[in-house]
Amino acid sequence: MRASRFFISTLKEAPSDAEIVSHKLMMRAGMIKRLGSGIYTYMPMGLKVIRKVEAIVREEMNKAGAIELVMPFVQPAELWQETGRWDKMGPEMMRVKDRHGRDYAIQPTSEEVVTDVVRSELKSYRQLPVNVYQIQTKFRDERRPRFGLMRGREFTMKDAYSFDKDIEGMQKSYTAMFDAYTKIFSRFGLKFRAVAADTGAIGGSFSHEFHVIAQTGEDALVYCPTSDYAANMEAAEAMPLIAQRAAPTQELFKAPTPDTVKCEQVAELLGLKLSQTVKSIALTVEKEDANGRAVKENWLLLIRGDHELNEVKVNKVPGLAAFRFATEAEIREAYGTVPGYLGPIATKAKVNVVADRTVANMSDFVCGANEEGFHFTGANWGRDCPEPQVADLRNVIEGDASPDGKGVLAIERGIEVGHVFQLGTAYSEKMEATFLDESGKPAPLQMGCYGIGVTRILGAAIEQNFDDKGIIWPDAIAPFEVVLAPMGYDRSELVKAEADRLLAELEAAGVDVILDDRGLRPGSMFADWELIGVPHRVVIGERGLKDGNLEYQGRRDEAATAVPVADMVGFIK
Ligand code: ATP
Ligand code: MG
Ligand code: MG
Ligand code: MG
Repeated sequence: MRASRFFISTLKEAPSDAEIVSHKLMMRAGMIKRLGSGIYTYMPMGLKVIRKVEAIVREEMNKAGAIELVMPFVQPAELWQETGRWDKMGPEMMRVKDRHGRDYAIQPTSEEVVTDVVRSELKSYRQLPVNVYQIQTKFRDERRPRFGLMRGREFTMKDAYSFDKDIEGMQKSYTAMFDAYTKIFSRFGLKFRAVAADTGAIGGSFSHEFHVIAQTGEDALVYCPTSDYAANMEAAEAMPLIAQRAAPTQELFKAPTPDTVKCEQVAELLGLKLSQTVKSIALTVEKEDANGRAVKENWLLLIRGDHELNEVKVNKVPGLAAFRFATEAEIREAYGTVPGYLGPIATKAKVNVVADRTVANMSDFVCGANEEGFHFTGANWGRDCPEPQVADLRNVIEGDASPDGKGVLAIERGIEVGHVFQLGTAYSEKMEATFLDESGKPAPLQMGCYGIGVTRILGAAIEQNFDDKGIIWPDAIAPFEVVLAPMGYDRSELVKAEADRLLAELEAAGVDVILDDRGLRPGSMFADWELIGVPHRVVIGERGLKDGNLEYQGRRDEAATAVPVADMVGFIK
C-alpha cells in the first residue's frame, strides 16, 4: 500500500468531547469519524484494525466448531414479544415502525432470532450440538454513549449461540467457547483476565466476562494473585461476606422450630427494624444427630437481588433445637480462618428464601455481624441503625482474604470485551424450541450465548498500549505492521528505488506494509505514524544506503538500529 493512495487524516488536537486516551487517539489518528452521538464512520485506517480483529475472531470461532451466519439487523417485534423482552429491554432497544405501522427492533443482541431459526431447523438430537455465530452491527441506545467505540450506540459484535441436547452438552459448548476466547484475546496480544460474572443466581457460576486490563476500565475486577480466583466486583460482592468480629450470639428459635420463619417474627424476637439492606446471614443450627448427640451446623445464607423478601423458610431439619446467629469462632471453624470471608456460598444450606410476599423496602436480608468499620458498613439489620445507602456498602476491598482461602485479594480495572453465558432453557422454553431426544420425546434446547465487542477491542487495546506520541498497536491488530519512511522519496532516485523495491518484496513476503510516498518532512512523517501506532518503522535514507544500511525502529524502541539492506525482509519477518 502507498500512503498517497490510502486515506490518512491525522489531527493535531482531539475534539473536546473525547475524554479518554483511546477516544482522543482514534480521532486524532483518523480511525473513526463521528456522525452523531455514539455513531461513527469506521474510516479506512480504523476499518483495517476492525478487519484484523474480525479475522482472528472468525478463525478461532471456526476452529472451535462454530458456524457463521448473519441475522437481520431489523427484527420483527413479535419474536421479542414471545420472550417478553419487547417490554423488558426498555429504552436501550431501538424500535422502528414500517409503513404498515408494524413494530421492529434494531438488534441489540439476537437470542430471539437465533432461537427462531433453530426451532424450525433442528428437529432431532442427532443434529446437536450446533453453535452458530455472526459478526454483525448492533444498536443499543445507551443511556450515556461515550468514549468513542468503547461505548457506542452502533457497534460491531460477534455473537454466538450454542444449542445442546442436555446440560452436560451445554457446559461442554461453554467450555469450548471459553477456551476459544482465551485464544482470541491471547492472539490480540492484550493483557486480559477472565472473571466470574454475576448471574443473579445463588451459587454456581454460569457466566464469565473477559476484560482487557486498563486503568480507565469501567469495571472493577477482584482477583487473587496466588490462586485462580477472579470475579467482577458485582460477583465478588455477591460472595458471602461477614464482619471479622463475632456477631452477638442470639437465639432466634427454640424447638419446636416452625417450618417457616417470618421476617416479622425474627424482627420481633430481636427487636429489629425491617426495611434495611443486608446481604447475608450466618446461622448456627443446633440439632441432634441420629444417635441423639447434640451437633452444630453452620449455615450461610446469602440473599441478594432486588426482590423483596419476607420470609426465611427453614426446611425440615430433623432434631432441630435452636437457630441463632453464628459466632466468629464458629464461622472460622466452618469456613476457614480467613477474616472477612466465609468461603464459597453454602449452597447446601437448608434454608430457602421465599419471596412470595412483599415487605416494604426490604430488598435483602439479615446479617448479624455488621458493625462500623466492617464490610457491611451501615448495612446492619439492627436496632436503631440508620437506613443503609447502597453507596455505603464497601464489600470487597484490597487485601481482603480470597474466598478460596489461598491468598489475599487485589483489585484492578478492566474493560469488558467479551461475555460468555450459560442460558439453559430460558429462551427455548418460552419460544418452544424443542427437539426430539433419544427416546423420541420433545425436550427444550439447552442454550448458551457468547459475545465479543469487536469494535470495543480497538478502544481497549489503545487504553492498554499508548504513549505521549500516540497509539502502539500490538502486531496482530495493527492497521499496518510496517511503515516504510523514505527520506526524500520525491527527490532521491536512490531512495525511491530502494523504497519501491522493499515495498514489493515485503508485500510478496505477506507483510502488511505501507510506504509513505507523500514526500513529507521526516518530523511530520514520523509523528503521523507514531500517532497511528504502526509497530515497525523502516527509514530509507541516502546516507544509510551508501553504507548499505536501512534504519529499523520498533514503536517502543528508544533508538534506531542499522540493518543491512539485504537482511531487512528477514529481519522484519
Ligand atoms: P456493558 O456492561 O459494557 O454495557 P454489556 O454487558 O451490556 O456491556 P453484553 O450484552 O455482554 O454487553 O454484550 C457482549 C459484548 O458486547 C460486551 O462484552 C462488550 O464487549 C460489547 N458491547 C456491549 N455494549 C457495547 C457498546 N455500547 N459499545 C461497544 N461494545 C459494546
Ligand atoms: Mg450494557
Ligand atoms: Mg456488562
Ligand atoms: Mg456483558
